[in-house]
Amino acid sequence: MTYAHPAVAAPSAPALPTIPVKEIAPFLMFGGLLIVIAFYFIGVEQGAFSLVGGTYLHEFVHDGRHLLGFPCH
Ligand SMILES: [Zn+2]
Repeated sequence: MTYAHPAVAAPSAPALPTIPVKEIAPFLMFGGLLIVIAFYFIGVEQGAFSLVGGTYLHEFVHDGRHLLGFPCH
């Protein structure tokens, strides 16, 4: 059983702002694109899927690849 003092009003929940999906959709799409690009370069850019020649890019993201648990070698 809880006791509330009659002189103290219970705090009312603040009104939460609403964000229309139409307004944030472009930002979500752009952020998703950046995530897909980062996923490609960190996780897939190697061997037959390589878009950039040489091993420079692979070596650059190599530690991140192992940190995130992508299979590498
Ligand atoms: Zn490795």
